[in-house]
Amino acid sequence: MNLVDGAQLTGTEHQRYDFVVVGSGPAGATVARALARAGASVAVVEEGPAVTPEQCPEDGFSAMAELYRDLGASLTIGHPPIAYVQGRVVGGGSVINGAISWRLPRDVFGEWTAADPALAEALPWPEIEAQHDEIETDLDVVPTHPAVAGAKNSLMAAGAEALGLEHRPIARYASACRGLGRCLQGCPEGHKASMDRTYLAEACRHGAQIYCSTRVEAVNVDRGRAAGIAAVAEAGATLQLGARRAVVLAASAVQTPVLLWRSRIRQGPVGDFFQCHPGVSVAGRFAEPVRMWTGATQGHEVIGLRSEGLKIEVLGYDRALVAFRLKGVGRTLRRGVGELAHWCQWGAAIRARGTGRVRPSVWGGSGGRASVRYWLAREDVVRARRGVRVLGEMMLAAGAERVCPGVHGWHAEVCDRATMAGVEQDGPLDPTAYSMAATHLFGTCRMGSDPRTSVVRPDFRHHAVRGLYVADSSVFPSNIGVNPQTSIMAMAGLCARRLLDESPPG
Ligand SMILES: Cc1cc2nc3c(=O)[nH]c(=O)nc-3n(C[C@H](O)[C@H](O)[C@H](O)COP(=O)(O)OP(=O)(O)OC[C@H]3O[C@@H](n4cnc5c(N)ncnc54)[C@H](O)[C@@H]3O)c2cc1C
Ligand code: SF4
Repeated sequence: MNLVDGAQLTGTEHQRYDFVVVGSGPAGATVARALARAGASVAVVEEGPAVTPEQCPEDGFSAMAELYRDLGASLTIGHPPIAYVQGRVVGGGSVINGAISWRLPRDVFGEWTAADPALAEALPWPEIEAQHDEIETDLDVVPTHPAVAGAKNSLMAAGAEALGLEHRPIARYASACRGLGRCLQGCPEGHKASMDRTYLAEACRHGAQIYCSTRVEAVNVDRGRAAGIAAVAEAGATLQLGARRAVVLAASAVQTPVLLWRSRIRQGPVGDFFQCHPGVSVAGRFAEPVRMWTGATQGHEVIGLRSEGLKIEVLGYDRALVAFRLKGVGRTLRRGVGELAHWCQWGAAIRARGTGRVRPSVWGGSGGRASVRYWLAREDVVRARRGVRVLGEMMLAAGAERVCPGVHGWHAEVCDRATMAGVEQDGPLDPTAYSMAATHLFGTCRMGSDPRTSVVRPDFRHHAVRGLYVADSSVFPSNIGVNPQTSIMAMAGLCARRLLDESPPG
C-alpha cells in the first residue's frame, strides 16, 4: 500500500488531490478504489493504524485496544446504555468484523423509496444489484464450509432445525477461512477479504495515497465549496489536503456527523435519526466442549425471523472475553475457567425502531469523540424478549444442559424449553433488564430530496456545500435489519459513480 504513516509524521504537509476521502472502512475503500481506477488522484485519510495479519493480536482485549475505537467500549447515553462497537484501523470495521455478507434487502429499499420516491430515480435498483454482484465476486463471498464451521455453528443448525426455523450457513467474504475463530481480532493469516487486503490495496495500485494514524479535524469550506480537509497526525504533524474535485466523508455513521458539526456544516438534521441493531445474547452450557473461540467466527444464522425484525447469529469471541464474564473468586472462578470450553453464545440483532442523536462530545476536545443519545422503543424491548426466547429454546433444543438468558430480574438459569418460552410473556419490559451491544449503525446524515429533513441529496451530494459528499451508512434513511457491510459498499459504489459523473475535473 502507498502509506504515509502519521505515527512517524511531524512538521506540516500540504498536498492536493482530485478527491480526499475521509475514512478507510468499507465505504471509504469502495469510493477510493472506484475513483482511483477511473484515473483520479485520491487521498484516503484514516485515523487508525495500518496492520498486517501477523500484527493482529491474539487476545480480544489487545485487539480492542489496538484496532477498535475507544478500546471497544463506546457507550450510548440512554435507557439502557448500549455498547456500540467500531473499528479504528486501515480497513475500518472490515478488519475486525465477522465477514458476514448480506445484500441490501429489496423490501427495505422499497420502504425507502415509498417514503421518498426521488430515491428510486437516483438509485435504480438494478444498479444496486449490479454493485452487489461485483462485491460478491471481488470478495469471493461463499457460504461457510462445514469443514471449518466447528461445534458452535453446527449446534445452531441443529437447534434451528428442531424448532422449524429457516437457517443456513452464513455467506462470508472469507472463502479461504481455516476456522481459526479470530475474525474479531483481525484474521492472523489474512483469510478474510477485508478492505485493507482488497479494495484499498487495489486503489493504491492505481495510485491512491493512504494517510494512516491521521485524524481529520475539519472539512475546509471556501465560498460554499469543500476545498479540502485539515488533519492531525499521531506524531503531531498538521496536514492540509486540498481537494480539486470533492471531499468524500466515509468516517462512519457516528464520526461523519461529528466531523460535520466540528466543521460548522450544520444544515439539515446532522446527527439526528441515529439508528442501530441492538443485539441481545444468550449463553448455553453443553455437556461436550464447544470451544466457542474455534471454528468460523460467525458461521451460521437463522433467517426466518427477519420479517419480525430479528436476525440470529452464532457469536465467536476470544476466550479472554468469554472468561471476563465469569463470576466469583478462588475455587468458583477456577471451576468457571475449567468449564469455559463448554459454553457457547448466540445473539439476536434487532431491527429496532428506536432513534437517537449524535453530537460531538463536550469532553472530546479536538479528539473527535462523539456523544450518542439513543432510546429503545417499547416494541424493541418486546422484540428483545422474543429474541431471548428463541435463542434459549434453540440452545436447549440443540442439547444445552442449561442456558443463561442474561435478563436481569428474570431466571438466571433455565433448563427446560417451557420455562424459556415464558420469557416472551413474563420477561421484564424495563429496557435496562437487557444487556445490549450494537455494531451496525445508520442514518445520521440521511439522504433525501428535502433539505429540511435530509443532509445529502439522493445522489450523495451535500444539500448546501458544493463538492462535499457522504458515502457511508450515515446516508441510509433507516436501519436495514441485516449485516450492513455489503449494502454500505453497494451504496458507496453508487456514490463513486455519481462523483465521477457530477464533479467537474480540475
Ligand atoms: C465487531 C464487529 C463485527 C461486525 N460484523 C459484521 C459482519 O460480519 N458483517 C457486516 O456486514 N457488518 C459487520 N459489522 C459492521 C460493519 O463492519 C460496519 O457496518 C462497516 O464497517 C461500516 O463501514 P463504514 O465504512 O461506514 O465505517 P467504518 O468501517 O467504521 O470505517 C470508518 C473509518 O473511518 C475512520 N475515521 C473516523 N473518523 C475519522 C476522522 N475524523 N479522521 C480519519 N479517519 C476517521 C475510522 O477510524 C474507521 O476506520 C461489524 C462491526 C463490528 C464492530
Ligand atoms: S474465522 Fe479465522 S481463519 Fe476464518 S477468516 Fe476469521 S480469523 Fe480468519
